Amino acid sequence: MNYSKLFLSVLFGVTILISSCDDEEDVCVETTWYQDADSDGLGNADVSQTACVQPSGYVADNSDTDDSSAASTGSTPLAAFDEFNEDAVTISFDGDDITIESNGLPNHTSPYWSTSNSLYIEPFVASTSEMSPGTISSGSYTVTVPATPVKASSSSATGLGAIGIAVTGAPIFNDEEGPNIALSANVASGFDYAGAHMGPTGYHYHLESTDVEANTTLSYDDEKLIGILQDGFLLYGRKCNSTDDHPTNLDASGGHISATQHSSDEEFYHYHIINETYIGSYILLFGVDLQGTPNTIM
Ligand SMILES: [Zn+2]
Ligand SMILES: [Zn+2]
Repeated sequence: MNYSKLFLSVLFGVTILISSCDDEEDVCVETTWYQDADSDGLGNADVSQTACVQPSGYVADNSDTDDSSAASTGSTPLAAFDEFNEDAVTISFDGDDITIESNGLPNHTSPYWSTSNSLYIEPFVASTSEMSPGTISSGSYTVTVPATPVKASSSSATGLGAIGIAVTGAPIFNDEEGPNIALSANVASGFDYAGAHMGPTGYHYHLESTDVEANTTLSYDDEKLIGILQDGFLLYGRKCNSTDDHPTNLDASGGHISATQHSSDEEFYHYHIINETYIGSYILLFGVDLQGTPNTIM
């Protein structure tokens, strides 16, 4: 091989290298991921790797000072229970347990109320023809959760029916409208501004509420408390009081450990509404797995 041929083939090789790098940069932005050996959502700043896709066992957070034992998930701050609608919800504290009982009647307006109810409003998000049949009537939802819930060794999927009780008194449902039937745009178009509708068991929420004038109480892209889920962890709106913004260190369930407006600087594990859209512009309240042990809502 003479020098000019060698030069050409080296040049050719370099060109291929450069162009393949360019291709990769187009589709892949590498970020740093930190090992989370104790699965508490906090990563070890000393053990990291860069990758485009989150590697299993690694998280974006790097604030774990002891990655060999899970950070305490803390106790549920009792001040949070002051947010619940006392006309519908009764909270009983019994040693290590908290029992939440609700008649399911929300303290806000809806076209799903009977027209004779003072909270009835004309439908305007959904049209009458899109709405589910039935009007809001009282039901019964009771769940007992630990006052200091802990993460289970593995997460668990939620089921059909109530997976939590909202501060308003009405139950929180997941992203299903039947056994293994995901919510469709067709069903969601019948929701009121509260992100709720009627089902065979009564009025219930699936989605974050809408930013409309009639919505004077429910969370919309803020840090308000949504309710408590069946594993005992609280669910907050899309923003966290600890940063006044959308949290960036959430686990796969939208959870993290921080203080909130209810905990006077005490840190505890809680969920947030994940700031992602679902079928169009809808935002699910909770369409992911529970990190704690689910208790039955009866
Ligand atoms: Zn439903
Ligand atoms: Zn938070």
